Amino acid sequence: MKNLELPEGTEEIPVRITGGSIEAYDGALVIKRWSLQETRRRAFKRTFRIVGIVCAFSLVGLIVHILLLLIIPLLALTFFGSVIFFFQLCGETTSFFCANSTCPGCRLPQRLEPYMGTGLQEKVSLICPGCGQTAQAVSRERHQAS
Ligand SMILES: [Zn+2]
Repeated sequence: MKNLELPEGTEEIPVRITGGSIEAYDGALVIKRWSLQETRRRAFKRTFRIVGIVCAFSLVGLIVHILLLLIIPLLALTFFGSVIFFFQLCGETTSFFCANSTCPGCRLPQRLEPYMGTGLQEKVSLICPGCGQTAQAVSRERHQAS
């Protein structure tokens, strides 16, 4: 298992992991509840990284002018998209990083990774690094203390 960089103050919540097979497994989902300040800082960092990459790429357009036809709409889309992305990240007050469980696909103990987003929801999608199959994790806590 590769080492995962986790922020400080993560928690584990009990989840039920289901996937391709009929069996469901009990696992622990590693989550982090962000403070308002942390949420904003994280949203800023991630948004600027994407905008930065696109801006760096568009510098090529200064040399290869034909690419400007492609780059200008790309830039417009990126700036528009980054606003949505930023607000979406601002709404992500709890993230999950991985789930330690038996994989329902390969039936081996695995560290399942986030699949399609890291925002914690009632049901989250995970992917097994071992067999590449996806799984779902549902919280076993009826009501989550906020
Ligand atoms: Zn697996």
